[in-house]
Amino acid sequence: MSLKDKTAIVTGGSRGIGEAVGLKLASQGANIAIVYVGDESEAISAKEKISALGVKVEYYFCDVSDFSAAQEVVKKITEDFGGFDILVNNAGITRDSLVLSMKEQDFDSVINVNLKGTFNMIKNTYSYFMRKRKGKIVNVASVVGINGNAGQANYSSSKAGVIGLTKSVAKELAGRGVTCNAVAPGFIETDMTKVLSDKVKESMETAIPMKKRGKPEDVANAIAFLASDDASYITGEVIKVDGGMAM
Ligand code: NAP
Repeated sequence: MSLKDKTAIVTGGSRGIGEAVGLKLASQGANIAIVYVGDESEAISAKEKISALGVKVEYYFCDVSDFSAAQEVVKKITEDFGGFDILVNNAGITRDSLVLSMKEQDFDSVINVNLKGTFNMIKNTYSYFMRKRKGKIVNVASVVGINGNAGQANYSSSKAGVIGLTKSVAKELAGRGVTCNAVAPGFIETDMTKVLSDKVKESMETAIPMKKRGKPEDVANAIAFLASDDASYITGEVIKVDGGMAM
């Protein structure tokens, strides 16, 4: 699964699953453009770890929910790397609560980052991929986008939307040699899930047939496969990485 001389854009690549994706793709030879929005020190740390693998790495501040910012960042990455081959839409947020107490703003912000952000990055890379007639898009959805989850109406709606977007883009670009797939992680150990109470973590683990949480690397391995030529005849697919949680 060599990715030598390929360039991958990884949104939310500064920590968690995104950082693991950068490390995995780089271990196969890919150059990495990290997109982040929060803490620059996390982006610097990810850049240092990935650079140690001997590939080119840069990081870019960009709020993916902002269409013009996404347009600018794709332009800058294209100039810096001379193009790109892989787009991993991993940036995501949660704002959990029951619908009863969910603020309108919490619904909008989750949809704007998770779903609109994925659209913004696809829209701004679409023509380039079409002209190149080759490329791999991998979107990070979630098992709750398939099954729903109490307390996550905003998040599960955004991830269900990501799955619909994935399949539509897969159908549009299939004839151009560009694949678009998604992974749907279950319960993965990152900052996003660190905030859950021990009680919630235990009850979630009990519901997982494999009886353990996943690691960011478990998700990165599936993404690296979908981003490689080994997955050339797979498009519009959603691979669950969840220890059997959503069977
Ligand atoms: P995380 O540790 O909280 O990392 C989220 C990443 O997204 C960070 O790099 C963050 O950048 C970036 N980000 C957030 N908002 C952004 C924006 N507006 N523009 C650009 N980047 C933004 O989360 P994670 O657990 O690794 O999650 C990664 C993806 O997996 C998300 O899409 C999430 O929904 C999905 N997922 C996670 C789980 C899980 O159990 N952890 C399960 C299913 C799906 P900064 O650091 O700069 O803020």
